[in-house]
Amino acid sequence: MSNNFRFLPDLSTDQLEAIQLDGLKWTVKHAYNGSPAYRDKLDQSGVEPGDIRELSHIESLPFTTVEDLRLGYPFPLVSVSQEQIVRIHASSGTTGKRKILAYTQNDIDTWKNMMARCFELAGLTRHDRVQIAVGYGLWTAGVGFQLGCEHFGAMAVPIGPGNLDFQLQFLTDLQPTCLCSTASMALLLSEQVNKMGLRDKIKLKKLIFGAEPHTPKMRKQIESTLSLEHSFDIPGMTEVYGPGTGMECLEHSGMHYWADIFILEIIDPVTLKPVPPGATGEMVITTLSKEGVPLIRYRTRDLSRTIDGSCPCGLELPRHDRILGRSDDMIIFRGVNIYPGQIAGILEEFSDVSSEYQILLKREGGLDFMKIIVERRDIVSSENDQQLAVLISDRIRKKVMVRTQLEIIDPGKLPRSMGKSKRVVDERNPEHQA
Ligand code: AMP
Ligand code: ZN
Repeated sequence: MSNNFRFLPDLSTDQLEAIQLDGLKWTVKHAYNGSPAYRDKLDQSGVEPGDIRELSHIESLPFTTVEDLRLGYPFPLVSVSQEQIVRIHASSGTTGKRKILAYTQNDIDTWKNMMARCFELAGLTRHDRVQIAVGYGLWTAGVGFQLGCEHFGAMAVPIGPGNLDFQLQFLTDLQPTCLCSTASMALLLSEQVNKMGLRDKIKLKKLIFGAEPHTPKMRKQIESTLSLEHSFDIPGMTEVYGPGTGMECLEHSGMHYWADIFILEIIDPVTLKPVPPGATGEMVITTLSKEGVPLIRYRTRDLSRTIDGSCPCGLELPRHDRILGRSDDMIIFRGVNIYPGQIAGILEEFSDVSSEYQILLKREGGLDFMKIIVERRDIVSSENDQQLAVLISDRIRKKVMVRTQLEIIDPGKLPRSMGKSKRVVDERNPEHQA
């Protein structure tokens, strides 16, 4: 069956497995021969490239972690000679030294193709105009979207992040049909479009957003304020080229990922064993043709799950769920492990509050306190704030087993971000932080 796509591959399961096995063998050999750090790691775990003869042998390979990337600063795990490197990018990591990743021209071309697939899956055509409202420079987002957009053949409007007035002016003057941004930026823009009554003056139909988790409520809010036809979640990370490791299709039932470009395993972060199909765990990625910095079983710390069965859209590529959070986002509060996503999930149940929330952690008199600040929706009166706060904190106590103080504030009062939102403010002593 041919799929009529220009960039999306049409591969049977057998073909895909053959590509994966070839790519796995190539990657282990390439990393072993090209990077002393990888050679050491493989030697220490007693695996030689020739030992990889079947796909299941991937489980004999050692994991690669963010620590391996930091140790090799500034050129960690590079497996080609320096003159083959044509570009570097650095991740937005906020702690310690940034991770720097090196790319060969083939790596850039692979990434360009991955991103073109994303625009194709979103149903864009050459007539679309794409406002790219994410960071350029060291960050992968801006240049990744742009590369893919141009390769796909749509018109890129490389505006970058920030500057709301400028964003709104371009949305009205250039009439872009698609916007690429973080969910936080999209929310901020939608609120501004609404406030200034600009909806009828702009032509936005589609939104592609990534780089941070969002809740269904946040997404619905953005979609309805902007009267969008579709919005799409896009995953990605600097270590695996950048944005566009997969993409939601028009069916919005999970994200197809490029199984001909990397192997995805989902493991239990404690036992390090694969979780049963469909269970949530940490995403572990092995690239199949990445030259500059190949990844062998890279522990991403991102949590998700695979989605079984075939997608109604007909595309054979496998799917994973949206990224539910990061294992290192876990808050340890009075001995209980909590993910911000769990709190967000509970807030989803209450239609009187908006999608925005902040978790504030303090330590007073030797005890930890958690305050959750949420915004009342604009159509809701403040009269019932107190009752609503009790209802929500009761629900949190029941589901997450922690006592929290809940504060309800006016709509639009929580800080808005033009990049990734900071949901947790931890003001406890460093030794009590997660
Ligand atoms: P960076 O390498 O700086 O671009 O950051 C990559 C990280 O951002 C990933 O490891 C995820 O934790 C997060 N991220 C990227 N895309 C998404 C997404 N669509 N949903 C949730 N988190 C995301
Ligand atoms: Zn699909």
